[in-house]
Amino acid sequence: MKSIQHLEGKWMNILLVYPMYPDTFWSFKHALKFVSKKASFPPLGLLTVAAMLPEDWNKKLIDMNANSLEDKDILWADYVFISAMSVQSKSANEVITRCKKLNTMIVAGGPLFTSSYENYEDVDHLVLNEAEITFPQFLSDLEKGIPKHKYTSNEWADITTTPLPRWDIVPIKNYTSMNLQYSRGCPFDCDFCDITVLYGRKPRTKTKEQVIDELDTLFFTGWRGPVFFVDDNFIGNKAKLKREILPAITEWMEKRKNPFYLNTEVSINLADDEQLMQLMVKAGFEAVFVGIETPNDESLIECNKPQNRNRDLISSIKKIQHFGLEVQGGFIVGFDNDPPSIFEKLANFIQESGIVTAMVGLLNAPKGTKLQKRLEDEGRMLKDFTGNNTDFSINFIPKMDSKELLDGYQKILNKIYSPKYFYERVMRFMKTFEPKKKKVFHLNPNYILALFRSIFKLGVIGEERIYYWKLFFWSLFRKPQLFSLAILFTIYGFHFKKISGGLN
Ligand code: SF4
Repeated sequence: MKSIQHLEGKWMNILLVYPMYPDTFWSFKHALKFVSKKASFPPLGLLTVAAMLPEDWNKKLIDMNANSLEDKDILWADYVFISAMSVQSKSANEVITRCKKLNTMIVAGGPLFTSSYENYEDVDHLVLNEAEITFPQFLSDLEKGIPKHKYTSNEWADITTTPLPRWDIVPIKNYTSMNLQYSRGCPFDCDFCDITVLYGRKPRTKTKEQVIDELDTLFFTGWRGPVFFVDDNFIGNKAKLKREILPAITEWMEKRKNPFYLNTEVSINLADDEQLMQLMVKAGFEAVFVGIETPNDESLIECNKPQNRNRDLISSIKKIQHFGLEVQGGFIVGFDNDPPSIFEKLANFIQESGIVTAMVGLLNAPKGTKLQKRLEDEGRMLKDFTGNNTDFSINFIPKMDSKELLDGYQKILNKIYSPKYFYERVMRFMKTFEPKKKKVFHLNPNYILALFRSIFKLGVIGEERIYYWKLFFWSLFRKPQLFSLAILFTIYGFHFKKISGGLN
């Protein structure tokens, strides 16, 4: 154990560690190489925790997705702070083992530790639930020399008091996108989703001033390009968005000459609100990720997703696209009510929707969800969810024969990410997509490099080369304003193909 005298001093060395992601759909690992970037987003939670630490403490952040963690870093630290999601558990466990070996104390928080704290008894301090509530309690006890093993809370934090994340402690050049959070929680109650377990059903929002401060801070770090609002459901409180937030972002974006390309996550009922879509586009939003899940109505009833029912899902998707927002979609197979025809039906649905970025996963039951409780009662739970629903594992006994389910799942992936179908979908989308706002391009040498890499890797040696060149010239001459998006899609397609191929 490190010298207690040192810990009682005025300052400390704090090492913030973000464990490594496995190679998943969301890691975009195979796409990152094209743009010479190391990871998609910086670890926003740790950047926020860093802002809660005393000013005079030394802080160092290592995102293991971008840099390696050396023993000397662990030895430098009085405390190693780890934040992780379930999908990072393997790497988080390795970090904990290394810290133990080197006698450095560990503080852990974030969704992984909050939902599975009983697996982490050997961690020195578990600071669980929302850091705005539990972290100051830990710090106060630490300063008094009486830190407890575990800090929890049943309350939701008031995020209007959340400090500005410390983007200055991370090399932003390592990332393809920056991220910020405006709201937490979601008003819906899908039974497989742990968002409502972790953050509640009442959307909590930051103030307009906080959002503008965060945009300003990102702007002054020198960032230009994509910014992802990481909200669980950005449109959870539509009235405030329309009244205050989107007009403020629009004004800010215009004043700063549109430095960012915005994207976020929303529920499908965005399609029902034309004013909201118009305001989002005006503010600079270009894409939204929507949990569409399944075209099978019985499965939507099963998972308690009424917002996706009683509507023509394809029409809703097309409507959002028509208003100038690219729709990225999340889909799930493995519901009890999925018929054997679901695989073909879903692949055809995705094709028809023109959703290029289509993430299809297997149903899994995260801890604490209604789904997990039901399966537990039915004696069908097998193990904890890994956090990765695209890795061909299911943590419960499905109704459908497992082999039939896994084979059917593989068939969907093989089809939708195959060059023929993938490029056909890109064309289908781009033919009708008309951005409503003129995009300001920020010259970035990495993007030019990515273009040449895509030409070589996909247009010269790739099996997709015929489709690649067809799309290349078609978009260059017919839709030049979408040319960069077309190239981005080709790179995404490469990643998706690799991911699905890797699962064979
Ligand atoms: S709409 Fe999305 S975030 Fe909200 S409960 Fe359903 S799956 Fe979770």
